[in-house]
Amino acid sequence: MTRHIRFTLDRESPATVTDADSNVGYGMFEEDAILETEGLAGIRTGRTLRLPEVRLLPPCYPSKIVCVGRNYVDHAKELGNPVPEEPIFFLKPPSSLAADGDPIVFPALSELLSYEGELAAVVGRRARNIRPEEAEEIVFGYTCLNDVTARDLQKRDGQWTRGKGFDTFCPVGPWIVPRAGVDLAALRVQTWVDGEKKQDAPVGDMIFPLDAIVAYVTRFMTLEPGDLIATGTPPGVGPMRPGSEVSIVIEGIGTLRNRIVEER
Ligand code: MG
Repeated sequence: MTRHIRFTLDRESPATVTDADSNVGYGMFEEDAILETEGLAGIRTGRTLRLPEVRLLPPCYPSKIVCVGRNYVDHAKELGNPVPEEPIFFLKPPSSLAADGDPIVFPALSELLSYEGELAAVVGRRARNIRPEEAEEIVFGYTCLNDVTARDLQKRDGQWTRGKGFDTFCPVGPWIVPRAGVDLAALRVQTWVDGEKKQDAPVGDMIFPLDAIVAYVTRFMTLEPGDLIATGTPPGVGPMRPGSEVSIVIEGIGTLRNRIVEER
């Protein structure tokens, strides 16, 4: 399985560092070595690094994180919402990114923090007004994403910018598995909290499949390389508390682990 990563040589770097930083690079895992590449899926530079030398970052740097709401029937129902007839979109800001292993900060402004385990697609090239049959060509690969949500603020505000947009509310990673090596129909999204399974559903249960979502987004927005599309969460959402460890597990892709810490 090929795994594409993004890293920085500055181990103290924030997860939100952009590609303009000279310490940031891309690479592929080969056993415990990292073979550096020029950008996402670029050619190899010839440099080899060891894992302890780097800090792993979110595996891409998106200009935007496009998320689909209520894309599984039983999740729409569990929160008392109607099943949508057209996909519902919202954005998370790049400032909400967190890497595998980073803390998720429980904001002092919220009393109800929820996980949402999701499959995310990573855009490989610029796209506008594409057809569903062309969607596959613009998807570079897949990764795991936790659409962390302050459920109380989401409900109170009516729109979702604050409830879904806090710093650390978008853990993603740990790496990208290229589309060509993945049987999308065989994937399942699982979420575990402190060793207890909370969500477990096949990706095939989505109301709007990935190709349709990608095509739909490009009818109103230009997608850029590195952009993330979060495909919605299956049923079973629930609370996370300070000290909890939450894992998004997609067999064949990877496991994304983060711990909840209280805002100081
Ligand atoms: Mg979601």
